[in-house]
Amino acid sequence: MPELPEVETIRRHLAPRLEDRRIDALAVHDPRWCLPLVPAALSDACAGRRIERLERRGKYLVTGLEGDVFLLMHLRMTGTLLYDAAPDASYRRVTFGLDDGHELAFCDPRRFGTGELCLGPEALEAFLAVRLGIEPLGGALTGSTLRALARGRRGPIKAFLLDQRHVAGVGNIYADEALHRAGVHPLRPAGSLRPGQYAALAQAVTAALLAGLDAGGATIDDFRHPDGVAGGFQHEFLVHRRAGEPCVTCQTTIVKFVVGGRGTYACECCQPRPRAWGGRPRGA
Ligand SMILES: [Zn+2]
Repeated sequence: MPELPEVETIRRHLAPRLEDRRIDALAVHDPRWCLPLVPAALSDACAGRRIERLERRGKYLVTGLEGDVFLLMHLRMTGTLLYDAAPDASYRRVTFGLDDGHELAFCDPRRFGTGELCLGPEALEAFLAVRLGIEPLGGALTGSTLRALARGRRGPIKAFLLDQRHVAGVGNIYADEALHRAGVHPLRPAGSLRPGQYAALAQAVTAALLAGLDAGGATIDDFRHPDGVAGGFQHEFLVHRRAGEPCVTCQTTIVKFVVGGRGTYACECCQPRPRAWGGRPRGA
């Protein structure tokens, strides 16, 4: 699933190609993409408008159109945006025709991706406010903000990180990588870290996301850059998807277990398992 670095990689690639272009036509081939809006309502609201800005909030791509119309796209599990894709590109759900003759396609084999419309900046902020917490690359993610958000929470720290209402944009890959960098076990109750560990984790989340961004994102399923090129961060994973391999720091074998229904990877030497949980990793 594309996370913040993958979505930001797409945004950086597309922004210079889309900004100041006009959407001549927007064809929604799969009505499920924009539910509860019907495709014609979405097309009518966007077609003929100039794209002023392509921004990102959490894992949402926010297309700011003239007249304060905002089209929000979420890639979910397998969505990809391709610039000038082959006409027969598979799993095409939406096609944008631009006024310079170029084309943008939203392709998505599993069809969980979405397009939503917000009319006016207040509607946009209200939409995002209930869905997204701290934007981790905006400088607001610190040990003390993380500690305040986690206070009193007994659920696992990994599940806490995956909740977009706490830290926006972190998913399964970057949660595993950040917890490893911070030396925090994924099953530690979120509210139980020491102050220094919240600070380390805040730094580790930022560092893991920036490393992912530097590598052009991770391609483990369908994620592609808009020109079809794969990201390379999957070759730099410290723990994610490395079960049975040695930890790069201490050589201990990395283990896999399940936290909140998600496959989770850790080095239990660098990331000591909380005592209350004890025993062997579950689901290993
Ligand atoms: Zn280790």
